[in-house]
Amino acid sequence: MEYPKIIKLPLEQYAIKPNLQDYFKMVKEFSGDKVSLELDWFDSEHINIAHVAIDSHLKTDRRDKKALIWESKKGEGEEYTFQDLSRLSNKFANVLVKDLGVRKGDRVFFFLERVPEIYIGILGTLKAGGVIGPLFSAFGPDAVRDRMADSEAKVLITSPSLKKKINEVIPELPALEHIILVRRGEGKVDLKDLFYDEVMAEASESFDIVKTHKEDYAIMHYTSGTTGKPKGAVHVHGAVVGHYATAKYVLDLQEKDIYWCTADPGWVTGTSYGMFGPWSNGVTQVVYEGGFSAKHWYSFLERKKVTIWYTAPTAIRMLMKAGNELPQQHGFDSLRHMYSVGEPLNPEAVVWGKEIFGKAFHDNWWQTETGAIMIANYPIQDIKPGSMGRPFPGIQAGIVDDNFNELPPGKEGNLALRPGWPSMFRTYWKKEELYQSRFKNGWYITGDRARRDEEGYYWFVGRTDDVINTAGHLVGPFEVESVLIEHPAVAEAGVIGKPDSIAMEVVKAFVSLKDGYAPSEELRHDIQKFVMKRLSSAAAPREIEFIPTLPKTRSGKIMRRLLKAKELGLPLGDTSTMEED
Ligand code: AMP
Repeated sequence: MEYPKIIKLPLEQYAIKPNLQDYFKMVKEFSGDKVSLELDWFDSEHINIAHVAIDSHLKTDRRDKKALIWESKKGEGEEYTFQDLSRLSNKFANVLVKDLGVRKGDRVFFFLERVPEIYIGILGTLKAGGVIGPLFSAFGPDAVRDRMADSEAKVLITSPSLKKKINEVIPELPALEHIILVRRGEGKVDLKDLFYDEVMAEASESFDIVKTHKEDYAIMHYTSGTTGKPKGAVHVHGAVVGHYATAKYVLDLQEKDIYWCTADPGWVTGTSYGMFGPWSNGVTQVVYEGGFSAKHWYSFLERKKVTIWYTAPTAIRMLMKAGNELPQQHGFDSLRHMYSVGEPLNPEAVVWGKEIFGKAFHDNWWQTETGAIMIANYPIQDIKPGSMGRPFPGIQAGIVDDNFNELPPGKEGNLALRPGWPSMFRTYWKKEELYQSRFKNGWYITGDRARRDEEGYYWFVGRTDDVINTAGHLVGPFEVESVLIEHPAVAEAGVIGKPDSIAMEVVKAFVSLKDGYAPSEELRHDIQKFVMKRLSSAAAPREIEFIPTLPKTRSGKIMRRLLKAKELGLPLGDTSTMEED
């Protein structure tokens, strides 16, 4: 298939007119003194994300505007205006502060499905000055324990069924003082916990929002690395300037838009662009509780008259796979723009989007650590299918060599950013040294490899580490290996990402068995189930290959590089440090 080298976009598609004046406004809003004058600061130093996202609209006509239109998996709906969210999050803040003694900086974690309570709870926690930590509801007990133990979270908001899943690890969380259960009609509950409906019923609707400093910690998202357990990237209240400016200028969000972000609140896209970006712009969001379903998604887009849609490459490839007949049964006249993030978006998908929706997908690049969109196809430019776009105004990106010197256009190297943008992470929780190690020669080193062309467009090449990107979820091989060797049959394990046409990569494990165990289909399934239960379905190896011994360095480290080269049929390279069989 031939792809156009460039897709010219009719500028009238954008509400934001890409003239030079706007460009400078974007730069000013995003960098400079880091103060977006349109946002409601308490003073030049103090700002609170929840205040900006919700309460700042109460002084305007948006007071009674719908902020959240929610649809459950069963098709039931609930709607919340900005005023409703303000009132309910005030109540939640009172529960935390008055009933539970939560103080500024305390960590409050959420292990919930995509239900309205997670939005209310997160806003309430931010109002109270707490630090939010959303956890993906598909996580298993080990994944939850690792994150909650590291952060020393004081409060957990979950549901009875999700709590059941993690009951066994709760004794391993000494800092955890309170659990609030969101029942939503679920019957059996543990009586020693608090119930969201009961504590909320008692709480007052008025709350004095904590006047947090722009550098006060607000958000923690755990992200995986090559080694060690996941690390908590910490963001501050001032980050909302970045959420706001990029949602406005990249997503082109306008007063009348109906916006749908398909990301789960457990991931950074689900908070930066599933809550703070759109709401700070005063935009109505629609949320579907369930996961991916081609049939449901097309119908949701049509029924809710979605105008701006932010999704991910795996989902787009799954829609492509479901065939073109299904979308032809629906109308998407309302759609103004479509965006994609999280993995490379293949040119086929960009072109397919244009065929089906009449619009090209705008790819954009960022990561947990950057907190907001850094490189994007934003309104001032045409789309080059396969490219991530150009740095957002105010962001200085570069390609640097392994000594961290900048490379000219056309050369492949490390994707780097000049630090200092408002939504940049401020530390890895209790891992300051690791945080500092990400900055070299005046650059923040992203961990991705890319190249820039003569026109300043960036093209993703791959990651510099062993982290696996499966359907947009980063999986650390070490985490999976650690769980694999807990299985009674497993002696050693090495985990790599295997290329996949839909999910970009899937987890593949090489496993050697303990004496007395023999490879079998049954054992393979048992090991897969074991990891799925403990970590998550994304982390569970899609493939397991039994091998007698794993290649190791002299110091005993498993050589994933070699496993990967073997898998891909590539030359094995330097094996001089390999263990001799
Ligand atoms: P996370 O921190 O989980 O949001 O994952 C961020 C990583 O996903 C980046 O460092 C990239 O490796 C990958 N990624 C995100 N957006 C894109 C994109 N548009 N194209 C290619 N890779 C992407």
